[in-house]
Amino acid sequence: MHRMFTDFVSMLFPEYCLMCSGPLERGEESICIHCKYNLPVTNHHLSSSAEVLQKFWGKVPLRYAWAYLKFTKQGNVQKVLHKLKYNGHQQIGITLGHWYGHELSAASLNKEFDFILPVPLHPDKLKKRGYNQSDTFAKGLSDSMGLPWYQNVLQKGTFNETQTNKRRLERWQNVKDVYCVKDATVIANQRILLVDDVVTTGSTLEACALTLVEAACKEVSIATIATA
Ligand SMILES: [Zn+2]
Repeated sequence: MHRMFTDFVSMLFPEYCLMCSGPLERGEESICIHCKYNLPVTNHHLSSSAEVLQKFWGKVPLRYAWAYLKFTKQGNVQKVLHKLKYNGHQQIGITLGHWYGHELSAASLNKEFDFILPVPLHPDKLKKRGYNQSDTFAKGLSDSMGLPWYQNVLQKGTFNETQTNKRRLERWQNVKDVYCVKDATVIANQRILLVDDVVTTGSTLEACALTLVEAACKEVSIATIATA
């Protein structure tokens, strides 16, 4: 390959594993094969574990709630998620989405959903960061699950009282921004897989899921890259 072209490709695709910093082989994306096989997977989708689901008990009805990986402080998962969110490494989200989507499809779980929706960022934040890390995971899952994903169906905004009824604002007083559905006909009677990078307290996912339930979806499930 021409030297200049090789350099250009290296600039676009890092040659080193974003977890262990070892060199990447041809065909490896972002994370090397060694790190891939040592990922701290939860296998929630195979064990019907309620570890993530229980965060939402009594708050919003969910069909499934899974996290792909276990997040530990200062661990490798935290390291790559930080790179995904703050250092522009969007490929990490796509790669992890591909891998997780393959696992879900292998268990025929791709048939449980009509489409995928990422948790949206506030437009100001999106403009500042340039991309939504949840979109990258949605895209990867979409590719390997054979399901569509939609970027602007679920939106985040700051609404005034004339746009949002007061009771709703009071209920979400701990959430500064409110989520809304752009076109309720897209949501009605659909089985939705809502995705985000990390689930911690679950308050963001809860607000999004409730918005979808209020828009008369058939059911909501949740999948995240990691659980804290
Ligand atoms: Zn590695």
